[in-house]
Amino acid sequence: MFYAYILVFSKILNKNYTFAAKTIKLEQKDKEIFENGQKLPLIDEFYTVQGEAFHTGLAAYFIRIGGCDIGCRWCDTKISWSFDTHRLADVKEITENVLKSKADTIVVTGGEPTLYQLAPLCSEIKKHNIQMHIETSGAYQLTGEWDWICLSPKKQTPPRDEIYQIANELKVIIYNVAEDLKWAEEEATKVSRNCYLYLQPEWSRRKINTPLVVDYIKKHTKWKLSLQTHKYINIK
Ligand code: SF4
Repeated sequence: MFYAYILVFSKILNKNYTFAAKTIKLEQKDKEIFENGQKLPLIDEFYTVQGEAFHTGLAAYFIRIGGCDIGCRWCDTKISWSFDTHRLADVKEITENVLKSKADTIVVTGGEPTLYQLAPLCSEIKKHNIQMHIETSGAYQLTGEWDWICLSPKKQTPPRDEIYQIANELKVIIYNVAEDLKWAEEEATKVSRNCYLYLQPEWSRRKINTPLVVDYIKKHTKWKLSLQTHKYINIK
């Protein structure tokens, strides 16, 4: 069987497989997941309500795509990190599942979904007049057509410049409070004036960090609090 070492990640969508973080080993036939977006490595798909930020409480069908090299130490979806263990699902199959759920909004998340070509998924689902939301660190080139872009930047791999002005919300996770609030302020200077600004206490430190974040928001009122409400009510 023919194997290719495909080099990721910084310019993967430009088909410029540069050495950036590591190499991954994929079967030749699986190169299509990076190159044409007709299939995506699917971790999970489920109909629930959005738990975080602006659309908290909104019914939405979540599509969780595998693969991430950002490496947040507090990541709550480390299962998503691997690139080659998730089932490749055809975008038509994903769309059929969305339609069966009767959802009118989908949220594409990960992992880091912008590692992949997302235009085929968007165009397939958009045929059915369904709202397309994405949650991304912004580390890679965003493809596809989106109704809502949640930018959740990560210090270790900052967003690409072009995503700041098209982000609808900026959601900064607060783990090391002083350091992360400083980072949040820096990131807030880069987004558009219409972008909603959220600070979200990291879950494992929520008991300590949430009161500190609340205090900060009371003094810096451009920010709003985002809580992971789905975790409080124990749903996906
Ligand atoms: S970007 Fe998201 S999926 Fe990737 S490591 Fe960070 S929290 Fe986890």
